[in-house]
Amino acid sequence: MNDENLFLTDRMLGVLTRYLRFMGYDTKSAVSLTAGDSREDTVLLDIAKEEGRYLLTRDRELAERGKNYSAVLLKSDDVLCQVKQLFLAGLIDGSHSLGMQRCVVCNTSLRPASSDDINNTPYAPSEKKELKFMWCPLCRKLYWTGTHSLNLEKRLKKIFDR
Ligand SMILES: [Zn+2]
Repeated sequence: MNDENLFLTDRMLGVLTRYLRFMGYDTKSAVSLTAGDSREDTVLLDIAKEEGRYLLTRDRELAERGKNYSAVLLKSDDVLCQVKQLFLAGLIDGSHSLGMQRCVVCNTSLRPASSDDINNTPYAPSEKKELKFMWCPLCRKLYWTGTHSLNLEKRLKKIFDR
């Protein structure tokens, strides 16, 4: 059940972090840790071990240190190549490519938006018919099915359909 896989990403993987959350994967980011901690690599290894997360990194040394804790060295800087690498390694699958399950900003599970949530959001689209709305209770951020998620969905589908 790779649907249940948990991830931890290094500071260089901000875009991949958002993609994984978009797909619904619980993904912690090193960005949420205090910056400038010289022991950050050790902290990341500890979190990966304690929480059973795959540690994703572009740092060869960190990947080597974490090889006993499921560290994965990502070979490319390109996010779609990174997603493909995880897919080919069997760590993620395509069934979650629809998005809107997890907040891409903070990793919290989204819930369906109430009409109050929608009406109180100034950036909500004016034409609401046939759109599905979700809400992040932590960031108070509104998500809806729209161009952005459809484009991302298409890009992800290309990878998973191969
Ligand atoms: Zn959030």
